[in-house]
Amino acid sequence: MTDADADPEFVFELRTCRWAEREWPPASTESPSTPAIVARQLGTKRRRWDTLVVEVDPEEFRRRANFGRERLDSDLLDVIPDAPADWEYYRDALPDPGYPWRYVRETIHRADDRGILDVRKRNNRIEIRRKWAYPDWVERVVAIENKPDLDASAARDLAAQVEYDVALSLADEVWVATRETGERVEPALLENLPVEVGILTIDTDSRDASVEWFPRSLDADAPGTLIRERGEETDYGSAASRFDYADPEWKARKRLEIAERAYEKGWRAFAETMRPDCRHFRLRREGRTLLPYCPAKDCHQTSSACSGSCPDFSPEPPQWRTKNWPIEGGPGKGIRRLLENRRERNRPGE
Ligand code: SF4
Repeated sequence: MTDADADPEFVFELRTCRWAEREWPPASTESPSTPAIVARQLGTKRRRWDTLVVEVDPEEFRRRANFGRERLDSDLLDVIPDAPADWEYYRDALPDPGYPWRYVRETIHRADDRGILDVRKRNNRIEIRRKWAYPDWVERVVAIENKPDLDASAARDLAAQVEYDVALSLADEVWVATRETGERVEPALLENLPVEVGILTIDTDSRDASVEWFPRSLDADAPGTLIRERGEETDYGSAASRFDYADPEWKARKRLEIAERAYEKGWRAFAETMRPDCRHFRLRREGRTLLPYCPAKDCHQTSSACSGSCPDFSPEPPQWRTKNWPIEGGPGKGIRRLLENRRERNRPGE
């Protein structure tokens, strides 16, 4: 099996992430470095984006660091941004969450344990006070769908996915990234994709990207349309499509939740869903990008293949774990640490 056969999408996705981290925004005439964080495989329950770029306000982003490396999950986002500047009974300070207050109390204690909220008890009442104002750090959210090879069936699926994204407008911009073919007209331009979607081609040898089509900015602050079901034309007539309305508050909240997850996760967290503790696991350098590689399978393995149920899985010998193994042969802990260090180094503005 060759690299290209293994899972081109997975490796292509990592390359896109690395490129976005280095070069975002593409072909920009502005300052070359819009500060941004890059993550992969994030989105909503119904739609997961391959690559996600969150453009940030550098000053506000620096203030986000006060709240630690971990994300603020949905429950914490019900508390932290509304925490008052002075001590106040929590039920007076926070908006009604729409679920029982006892869950809010649990979240308050969790925030206290993390050291991101002041909490005290007065007259048998829990009072809260913010430690820092929660910053408005997210500027724009950009979704990139990776389709290295646009054969007919990939293009069909892709069109449905990006139509969904454009209708909902949860991201400010939607792009499709494909492998550069060198043809006079890149095949992606001939596909029936919405005009709002940008098209980026990536040269997998030079790792540069070219913009074939610029996207239109979507109105992320306006109501969106959730396509629940697509109507189909059949021999017996056409079935109706089903849509739902997505209000701007829901969208704003989802964007923030996604951005918080991106902040915590980055794109190098792939080792968390793989088996770097397998004796075959390697990281291979490709330029400045480290890609997972499995000599037993002779390919860049996918995270679904690289699991405890892999027939070639073989735990690293215990004595490896005590050594400072080099990058090109390292046992699990070293690999995780290396990827984690790179994630830290690449957080903008820190
Ligand atoms: S678990 Fe399987 S795919 Fe992963 S490194 Fe080991 S042998 Fe390779």
